[in-house]
Amino acid sequence: MSECIFCDIIHGKIPCAKVYETKNTLAFLDIAPVNKGHTLVIPKKHYPTLFDLPSELGKELLEVMQKVGEALRKTVQAEGINLGMNNFKPAGQLVFHAHFHIIPRYENDGLSLWPQKKYNNNDEMLALAQKLANNI
Ligand code: 5GP
Ligand code: ZN
Repeated sequence: MSECIFCDIIHGKIPCAKVYETKNTLAFLDIAPVNKGHTLVIPKKHYPTLFDLPSELGKELLEVMQKVGEALRKTVQAEGINLGMNNFKPAGQLVFHAHFHIIPRYENDGLSLWPQKKYNNNDEMLALAQKLANNI
């Protein structure tokens, strides 16, 4: 076993329920689904988070996520799809091999994602947007 469970899956050292693969990506079912069909899309090479991924991989990853999402709509009659990615521990990342969650959703499936907060006022919001823009 290596340090990374997803590298072990890529190298066939531990099994997975494979859905699809391309030259640089693999899609397989999450072992503990939010809803059945919940699929993980990962790069075959080990990159810990979004910020380590080469942007050239983006097109291939996006195409795979679109294909998997469409297949979930047909296969498990998903009425909606959440695309998610956890980066770093405070955001819920448990496996430090970058991965995207493709989650089938249904009306009234009991999940309530994204509890939301408020800015104190519009000026605070605009100032933060400007600060962010200055850091890009
Ligand atoms: P994270 O919290 O890092 O975004 O998500 C990691 C995901 O990997 C979790 O949803 C978890 O259920 C899934 N997972 C962890 N170990 C395995 C495994 O051995 N096989 C599969 N198929 N999924 C796994
Ligand atoms: Zn890895």
